[in-house]
Amino acid sequence: MLPSVDEVISDKRIVEVLESYPRMLTLESIRESIEYNRQKIVKLEDEEVDSYKVDFDKIVEISLENVINKYSLSLKKVINATGTVLHTNLGRSLLSDKIKDELWTAASRYSNLEYNLDKGERGSRYVHLTDTIKRLTGAEDVLVVNNNAAAVLLVLSTMAKGGEAIVSRGELVEVGGSFRIPSIMALSGADLIEVGSTNKTHLNDYEDAITENTKVLMKVHTSNYRVLGFTENIGVDVLSDLGKKYRLPVIEDLGSGVFIDLSKFGMTYEPTVMDSLKNGADIVTFSGDKMLGGPQAGIIVGKKEYIEKMKKNQLTRALRVDKLTICSLEATLRMYLDEDIALENVPTLKMLLYTYDELTQRAENLFNKIDNLNLDANISMEDGLSQVGGGSMPLETMKSRVIAISPKSISISELEKRLRLSNSHIIARVYDDKYILDVRTIFDDEFDVVAKELEKAFK
Ligand SMILES: *Cc1c(COP(=O)(O)O)cnc(C)c1O
Repeated sequence: MLPSVDEVISDKRIVEVLESYPRMLTLESIRESIEYNRQKIVKLEDEEVDSYKVDFDKIVEISLENVINKYSLSLKKVINATGTVLHTNLGRSLLSDKIKDELWTAASRYSNLEYNLDKGERGSRYVHLTDTIKRLTGAEDVLVVNNNAAAVLLVLSTMAKGGEAIVSRGELVEVGGSFRIPSIMALSGADLIEVGSTNKTHLNDYEDAITENTKVLMKVHTSNYRVLGFTENIGVDVLSDLGKKYRLPVIEDLGSGVFIDLSKFGMTYEPTVMDSLKNGADIVTFSGDKMLGGPQAGIIVGKKEYIEKMKKNQLTRALRVDKLTICSLEATLRMYLDEDIALENVPTLKMLLYTYDELTQRAENLFNKIDNLNLDANISMEDGLSQVGGGSMPLETMKSRVIAISPKSISISELEKRLRLSNSHIIARVYDDKYILDVRTIFDDEFDVVAKELEKAFK
């Protein structure tokens, strides 16, 4: 009863598709579509078989749908309605539209990536970022690698291999994706000397642990958790005095590097990269794609004598960044040369700093579009809380405005699933028996799409 693969592939609609899609995927899709029908027939009762008719058109249609699905990229655009700005699972920080032409030029044309135009000879890929980062941070030198985990690995491997690095027990951080300070230390060949206790580490805990094998004193910014209550920990300024006394360098892993003190906008104070350097850190490391709002990268700033050594470390070659990272990072950092430009154009900063009034206005806009659909649901506009995310500012919850939907005819989990699997892949939170759309992380130009997908999901 079933058509042959040859019959299906000669259908006019399929022939058309073959012009734009690989034959391999088309054949695979046709075979699957026929097989799906074969299974249906096999399950028929004897008396049903005679009257069963194979729907040829349906086989063609499903094949077509399959080809398009198979050919679409696995990495897909999604709509982030969770309100979590640096959502590591959803790609962390987003680049500004403003840099797309420069980024595409770097990607699709030759460049002076490792070529010195003045001298007409081989150059270094790292020089492109040096000027801007030095200007912004006042650091003596700069090196950029694949991510902050790589930065910490390279710093320790260069400065503490074969010796000891002293760290407070209150700062033995694990970041998501199994990055643990102790494991990175082991990998770098440095011995970890833990001092103090989880909640308290005093200056003399560090001092007592110093031996002739000590290579560095390390501070790790506990960016994704806080130890609260009966606590004490030594600031990088005090640690730096100790370092000077014993001629030991002090390194600080800031995690989420910020260049702008966001406490003046009412957020919790996070040490800026400049503060850390000013307070005496010899080397500071931070991520490019956390609060900075750039591409994935690990940025190392500080004293030239140490960074020169890192540049010669073989690991640097293995951890190096590609031209798309260099281009998008330089273009993002350039905006920070004028704070107002950065605040207006770096999407991460913009989303973090929306005022309550702005969020209310945007939520009303989305609410009206959804309300107009007359869905079989209770829909309301409510206050909500969004998070920074990406292991940054764990205690910070920002007041936001959300659309809350309680469907009447389908379950919440069904609604969540339909929207997640829709063509627009809307990712939202379910909380308190409501489906919550937080407008903080939804773009204005996505509001219509969200409304359209909601309408489809309710059908
Ligand atoms: C996030 C974080 C890292 C890891 O940074 P990636 O850029 O994700 O590799 C390392 N240390 C701290 C303290 C962090 O917060």
